[in-house]
Amino acid sequence: MQKVRIPVTLNPARCSQRHLRYEGILPSKVLKRVNGISAGDCKDLDVSVECGVDVQGIVYLSGKAVTELTLICQRCMEPVKIPVAVEFAFSPVTDDSQIDELPDAYEPVELDENGEVQLHQIIEDEVLLAFPIVPGHDNDSCNMASRDMSVGKIAAPKPADERPKNPFAVLDTLKRN
Ligand SMILES: [Zn+2]
Repeated sequence: MQKVRIPVTLNPARCSQRHLRYEGILPSKVLKRVNGISAGDCKDLDVSVECGVDVQGIVYLSGKAVTELTLICQRCMEPVKIPVAVEFAFSPVTDDSQIDELPDAYEPVELDENGEVQLHQIIEDEVLLAFPIVPGHDNDSCNMASRDMSVGKIAAPKPADERPKNPFAVLDTLKRN
């Protein structure tokens, strides 16, 4: 499927009848709130969205968004890339009574005065919710962890490979004396 730009808004009443599906890109620069609290701009989002009517007759808007955040590792204070994938399932509502009736599988999403959903905005909301509480590198790639390791090395007994490689070298020195 050809990659398209994910529309800014979507009309669920119209889209659900045609069972619309999008597979596309949401440019990073759109996500101002996400980038504003990150150490660098996130990657362009790979998004898939589908709009339809389920077996219960409920209009839904579901999909997935994948990106990579640039945050600050809370151990070494250097930037760290954190992959993030969010899945969502919304159902448009117009008033509170509809929210009460909505099955748990769906999150309510408000329609604006034109009957449209702010698609970019709700995807960004989901990404914001997916931020790690304490971002950090893996042990293998964290500067702080490697520093810990070198401290450990100094304190540890001499590793085996630091013994003279060639036992005859010792004999040579003895001979020379
Ligand atoms: Zn780190």
